[in-house]
Amino acid sequence: MNKGPLRTVITGAGIILGGIAALNLASTVTLKTISFVSEKKRKKTALPCMACRGKGFYICKLCKGNATISWSPMYDPIAINPCLCPTCEGNRVQRCLNCLGKGYD
Ligand SMILES: [Zn+2]
Ligand SMILES: [Zn+2]
Repeated sequence: MNKGPLRTVITGAGIILGGIAALNLASTVTLKTISFVSEKKRKKTALPCMACRGKGFYICKLCKGNATISWSPMYDPIAINPCLCPTCEGNRVQRCLNCLGKGYD
C-alpha cells in the first residue's frame, strides 16, 4: 500500500485552491486600490483653497479672532469700547470668500 501519490494529489489540489483564493483576494484588493487611487486623483484635481487652506473658513480679519473690536466713535482712546465684531458676529471666524466655505477651488 503506497499512499504517497494520493497525498501528493490532495496537497496539490490544496495549493491550487489556496492559490485561487489568494488570486481572488489579490484582485479584490487591487480593485480597491484602483478605486482608492482614482478617488485620490479626483480630489487632487480640486485643489484646496489657498486662502483658507482647505478649511472653508478663516480667522476673522477684522477682529483677528477676538470676536470683539475696539471701536471708538469719538476717536478718543479713553472712550474705546469693545463691541461685537460686525463681520463675524462674534463667531471669531468668517466664511472663506474665495471658496465660499467649500474648502477647495
Ligand atoms: Zn470678527
Ligand atoms: Zn477658501
